Amino acid sequence: MAEDRTKIPTPLRREVLEEAGYACAIPVCRIATVEIAHIEPWSKVKEHTFDNLIALCPNHHTLYDVEKKIPKASVLRYKANLAVLNGRYSDLERRVLEDAVAQRYGMANGMPVPPDPGMRQWTVHRGMGLLLSHLLKDGLIRKGLGPSGGLRVGHQEMEHTYVLTPKGIEFVRQWQDAEPLLE
Ligand SMILES: [Zn+2]
Repeated sequence: MAEDRTKIPTPLRREVLEEAGYACAIPVCRIATVEIAHIEPWSKVKEHTFDNLIALCPNHHTLYDVEKKIPKASVLRYKANLAVLNGRYSDLERRVLEDAVAQRYGMANGMPVPPDPGMRQWTVHRGMGLLLSHLLKDGLIRKGLGPSGGLRVGHQEMEHTYVLTPKGIEFVRQWQDAEPLLE
């Protein structure tokens, strides 16, 4: 790169990486990254602004920037959806949604699985339920029975199992397909 390109200031870099949780902003990818892409190319804008920067893994950065295989409209939507997800949901809730996307994409923990996010269940300790309250309130998840009906100590259920509702399945599809969320 011969052009005179200034470095992205460190605080701005951190802000952009934190927005995406130090992972690729593309929902089906989400692999750890510290790479940042300009949505409008640097050669055109010649500046670094938060709204024009997004965390992408090296592979998707190349696909977007060099090979032009990812539409700019999609990248803009991924960026806008990150703001919705960060503004509305806890870290645990975002992990649940990411896991659901992975399930939809046919992968979970790096292993191929049937691509049906409705089959996925998340079991959390009773005390963690509060961290899922926004997903519950928005009707994206509901309590499920769980494989064993919940681990019990005395009469108290210690764990709760959650599954996606049809609305939750649709939400995950919209996120993956770069459509507007909650609009
Ligand atoms: Zn990626």
